[in-house]
Amino acid sequence: MTELLYQTDSYLQSFTAIVEAVDEQNHGLILDRSAFYPGGGGQPADSGILNRIDIASEPSSALKVTRAKKIGDQVVHLVEGEVLLPPVGTALLGQVDWEHRYELMRTHTAMHILCGVIFRDYGASVTGGDMDPLQGRMDFEFETMHKELVAEIEAAINREIASARPVRVAILPRDEAFRIPDLIRTKINLLPEGIQQVRVVEIVGLDLQADGGTHVHNTSEVGQIRVIDYKSKGKINKRIYIEVS
Ligand SMILES: [Zn+2]
Repeated sequence: MTELLYQTDSYLQSFTAIVEAVDEQNHGLILDRSAFYPGGGGQPADSGILNRIDIASEPSSALKVTRAKKIGDQVVHLVEGEVLLPPVGTALLGQVDWEHRYELMRTHTAMHILCGVIFRDYGASVTGGDMDPLQGRMDFEFETMHKELVAEIEAAINREIASARPVRVAILPRDEAFRIPDLIRTKINLLPEGIQQVRVVEIVGLDLQADGGTHVHNTSEVGQIRVIDYKSKGKINKRIYIEVS
């Protein structure tokens, strides 16, 4: 099973790994460890490159990873083109496309700031979300949302950025996580039975969620958030669009 390095160190841009299995069908590689995020929880997957360590001096030998993808319970690094895949046991140096990933880290933390503010100030729960680099949308059960609130929400989320709150990640046993009242509201009870450990992302003093994604260390790294639009998806459900710069 691949050791998921991004779970404990979201700032890791490069890493060494060994090929554990070759997935010919998907033209991909399964590694013993990886910093590539395979996508999930609204955060798109990482892309990047894998280089054979033994012939690293030849730039042409770099394998381009179009994306990492969860297939079954494995993380498969999908390799571009018709190139021959290195055999099991090959040592590789992996490099995540950092510009893309760091933008997603800032965006993902921005989304959690939005969730935290909307719950704290209006008592509205999040029901889903999706993001691209530097933009995202989130759905809330937020009956009282109206146009005049946009500026108020935007000011409140930017205050949270200015207050430079630390962002902490912890991996907790399931029982312990289920005893945290703040986690219940984010529908942690929907986690499949088999999952014995829960990864928790906390914006200290603002938001706490069970989450598998990669985040910045401090809200001040996010930049500026703009609320660019919102839409009613029925009487109760509202979708809020943000942009990060
Ligand atoms: Zn998240």
